[in-house]
Amino acid sequence: MTDFLVIGQGLAGSFVTDGLLKRGCSVHCADPLVASASTVAVGLLNPVVGKRHSPHGKFVRHSPEAFAAYSTITGAIVHHPIERILIGDEERDLWQGRKEQLMEQNTVASLAPSRHAEIAPFITGEWEGYTILGGARVDTALVVQTFREQFTRDGVLIPVAVPPDELSFDGETWNWCGRRYRRVVWCEGYRAQVNPYWSWLPYLNAKGHVLRVRISGVPLGALTICGGKYLVRLGDSDEFLFGADYDWHWKDDAVDGGSVDTLLHTLRSMLRADIELHSARAGIRTVLMDFGAVLGAHPDHPALFICNGLGAKGALLAPAFATMLINHILDGAALPREHNVARYWQKTVPPRPVE
Ligand SMILES: Cc1cc2nc3c(=O)[nH]c(=O)nc-3n(C[C@H](O)[C@H](O)[C@H](O)COP(=O)(O)OP(=O)(O)OC[C@H]3O[C@@H](n4cnc5c(N)ncnc54)[C@H](O)[C@@H]3O)c2cc1C
Repeated sequence: MTDFLVIGQGLAGSFVTDGLLKRGCSVHCADPLVASASTVAVGLLNPVVGKRHSPHGKFVRHSPEAFAAYSTITGAIVHHPIERILIGDEERDLWQGRKEQLMEQNTVASLAPSRHAEIAPFITGEWEGYTILGGARVDTALVVQTFREQFTRDGVLIPVAVPPDELSFDGETWNWCGRRYRRVVWCEGYRAQVNPYWSWLPYLNAKGHVLRVRISGVPLGALTICGGKYLVRLGDSDEFLFGADYDWHWKDDAVDGGSVDTLLHTLRSMLRADIELHSARAGIRTVLMDFGAVLGAHPDHPALFICNGLGAKGALLAPAFATMLINHILDGAALPREHNVARYWQKTVPPRPVE
């Protein structure tokens, strides 16, 4: 008998599997890895977020574990200040209200006049900028690929999907394809919304696109937030990742031409430069109605667990949330109420089906 079957090998499933193996458990991880949010994400770890320039509490709490986890994977994380370019009156007005406090906290720094002058010819219209300290970018596709190679080498990976109806419980163990498991952890991302074991959770999943573009000659650094969107320079090249948008009314996880055009138009309206589209990718973020994650056991099946709902911050949260779930399962450690799946047991709403 095997201790665990982990279903899904995005960031959540990768860190759950790795953490269980490190605790000495026997584990299989199943995933056909067709497409996932984890292989599409921009992967920015950003300490100051949103229109309101708010210091990100989750960043403070969980970035140390994220930084430590990604630093063990060669090439996975680049630490770099993030230059934030504010376009539009609202963003700039809100910045004026926050500036002093953030500067005092040493969370941000002013953009040097020479740097401002360097960037200015390439930005359309009125703008202002500042630098966010302590940020980083994770190459999430590389992380998933590195774990995949490790799990394949160690005989942990089963490269197929686990349809929920193929799993059966005999009163003692969970059985799948002739194998027996003590416990099962579902890390399926958005596909949980059509899994009968977890479809009762109130999902509000959001699709997002990330463009790969060539922008010739702009003096942008490694990490930029421009008009609220991320621009990540790929190495020393003139190629960038640009994204992401939020589509709450998506029909499937395929790239949508209209969304790509809108994103491209947004970028062209902000930058005075030649911009050439290289490719586009789409992924779906699993978001719960209250924007918390879901960790913990199924109400009717105590040996079935979930690790999901990492939303738009999965690169930041996956290492810490996998550890929380593992400590809960193996040591009985309490889960934070705002991320404990038990908070939904009495609050079900019908899930929105995938069309
Ligand atoms: C466009 C976009 C941009 C983003 N940018 C950022 C960012 O800048 N910073 C950040 O921190 N986060 C970002 N995120 C969020 C982050 O990517 C996600 O929170 C995280 O990747 C979710 O990981 P996951 O493992 O829960 O789900 P997923 O990555 O979706 O993985 C789920 C896995 O489960 C597998 N699976 C599903 N069902 C089954 C089954 N029945 N059997 C076997 N396998 C199954 C799938 O194949 C998949 O590999 C972004 C997301 C998107 C979409």
